Amino acid sequence: MQKPYSLQVYKFGGASVKDAAGITNVVRIVREHGAPGQVLIVVSAMGKTTNALEEIYHLAFNGQEYAPKLAPLREYHARVITELFADDSAEQQEVQAEVDQLFSQLDQQLASLRQQQLHTDHYDQYYDQTVSVGELLSTRIVARALGAHWLDCRPLLRTDHTWREGRIDWPTTEHNVREHVPALLQRGPVVTQGFLGATPNGQTTTLGREGSDYTAAIFAYCLQAQAVTIWKDVAGLLNADPKFFADTVRYPEISYQETIEMAYYGASVIHPKTIKPLALRGIPLFVKSFLNPTAEGTRIGDCRHGLLAPAFIRKDGQCLISFESKDLTFISEENLEVIFGALSQARLKINMMQNSAISFSVCTDFSPYRLEKLLDLLRSQFTIRYNANLELYNIKNYDGNSIRQLTDGRELLLEQRTRQTFQFVCRATPAPAPVA
Ligand code: ASP
Ligand code: MG
Repeated sequence: MQKPYSLQVYKFGGASVKDAAGITNVVRIVREHGAPGQVLIVVSAMGKTTNALEEIYHLAFNGQEYAPKLAPLREYHARVITELFADDSAEQQEVQAEVDQLFSQLDQQLASLRQQQLHTDHYDQYYDQTVSVGELLSTRIVARALGAHWLDCRPLLRTDHTWREGRIDWPTTEHNVREHVPALLQRGPVVTQGFLGATPNGQTTTLGREGSDYTAAIFAYCLQAQAVTIWKDVAGLLNADPKFFADTVRYPEISYQETIEMAYYGASVIHPKTIKPLALRGIPLFVKSFLNPTAEGTRIGDCRHGLLAPAFIRKDGQCLISFESKDLTFISEENLEVIFGALSQARLKINMMQNSAISFSVCTDFSPYRLEKLLDLLRSQFTIRYNANLELYNIKNYDGNSIRQLTDGRELLLEQRTRQTFQFVCRATPAPAPVA
């Protein structure tokens, strides 16, 4: 397929822009390591800002005092600005004014939310209006540091009303992006927000935690980019998260297919929705280290390879829910239909499931509100039990040795294997998993 714009899409995550030194490094990467041609830069919220905003939002929604949590976030952004730009420069004043304005709007929103005492059904909708501010802040600062054009992605990335996981309206988004972005790119680098979109009536949506990778893929798809590069704090796509596992190995090259499966099982390295748009247009995805930008990294694309090293994927914050029919009737298709319907209504996603004669178990991400909703929906028909604070492990391309390494000494609450994948649920472990 023709790639008319010779465009590179770069995505920088929160860790890469967590402080002034990080942002300076991003500027250096774009200026010194950028391929020739145009560049669109997708940026996440700085450091742990999204987590902080989630916490602040939660307090305000529940009518509690949030100011002591908001103040440090404001100071954090101000400090980065002070360190990044020359004192009293026009740049510094302008970007500080932009950031101040975003914080005052946020504060107003939170204050009114705190008063309103909304029903929990509105939680996700207002979450998006609040938590999205992290990316508006970071992109203001990064765009200014780069001397790049700041683009608000929300009027372009059209989604439906699925709060916290907006589903992209592809035809509208592609039309919008193609109409507005090429002219901007001709004038120089463009910086935009990861993770955000908006509904047809302009309300902000988010695309799911860690969704900035997906944003990069959406722009790349719409603009038929040459390649996407995700700049991370690891050397590329690894067979396990080095935070939890020792002796990880890097895949130099890996197929879209394998990557999609790893991401689906919860490998946090790439958002699961990222691959499909890229694969559809044959756009390669590079995962590289922002700490070592000249190193090879990983190339994800249309390729064939032999057997890969087993991948170890761990998902925290899991909940195992079991449904038992109240009258000892078998779990039937009719029962399953009711359970699946309720899971979907409560917006709980199944990470693993299993059934026996009279009971059915699912492992989902733990979310108190969503679980409560599920219990309300099904309590009358089933006896429901659940365990929270669990971990789900997946070993992709497993062998006997890798299973032993991970399961030894653990009590497995649920386990399952297919030809390629071994999965199990167990209680959370305080120490990192012992993998040789
Ligand atoms: N800032 C958002 C998050 O932390 C999106 C992203 O980082 O990709 O989930
Ligand atoms: Mg982030």
